[in-house]
Amino acid sequence: MISMRTVDKHFGALHVLQDINLEVPKGQVVIVVGPSGSGKSTLCRTINRLETIDSGTIAIDGVQLPAEGRALARLRADVGMVFQSFNLFAHKTILENVMLAPVKVRGIDKTKARARAMELLERVGIANQADKYPAQLSGGQQQRVAIARALAMSPKVMLFDEPTSALDPEMVSEVLEVMVQLAKDGMTMVVVTHEMGFARKAGNRVLFMDEGRIAEDTDPDTFFTAPKSERAKDFLGKIL
Ligand code: ADP
Ligand code: MG
Repeated sequence: MISMRTVDKHFGALHVLQDINLEVPKGQVVIVVGPSGSGKSTLCRTINRLETIDSGTIAIDGVQLPAEGRALARLRADVGMVFQSFNLFAHKTILENVMLAPVKVRGIDKTKARARAMELLERVGIANQADKYPAQLSGGQQQRVAIARALAMSPKVMLFDEPTSALDPEMVSEVLEVMVQLAKDGMTMVVVTHEMGFARKAGNRVLFMDEGRIAEDTDPDTFFTAPKSERAKDFLGKIL
């Protein structure tokens, strides 16, 4: 579903992604961990071309990502992304937030889009807040809306970049539960998170990023109990 071959990227002199090779089959849940600055966010952002790459190729469901234009917009719609900051439109209601892209980008009829948005809000447990504005919701609720909004485009892949790290501790689990369910439903997911419980419950695979490289690529149990490299051991020592 995601295929990255020999991907390299620099920010000026910084070699932020170094020879990234990654094949993610349909339905797999990949957890990405690693020290701050190791390139985790950049990796996610290149998958839907929020960042360009210097060389290599990236394909989603067998279609290589073009650099720009309409074809890119269309392919990008196949990749949903949820960030640490929820980025909801403050002056639109929860329902409007979820309806907006399907109507504007996919040209879906408003009545249909509304019905589908309500279904998704139901799925993330927040349908009763549909007519409120983002500021009236807790952080955990806003993040669940952000997930519903991404799902509204019927993406083939969902990327999550530290989706719970800006949340108060008591709100983390309500967001992770939605993500566990999504994983169970068969969504292909790439999740940057240090939530080990989630990684072990929902993850099929862990990538340990270090200085722009995929330094380890293994299953969650192996990674969290018996990491190979000193760097990974050191990293785990800091987050555990
Ligand atoms: P992580 O998510 O693992 O913390 P990032 O992918 O955000 O790491 O960043 C990797 C490195 O690239 C960091 O050193 C960061 O400062 C740098 N970086 C990220 N975005 C930019 C940018 N737009 N311009 C220049 N440097 C950047
Ligand atoms: Mg990051």
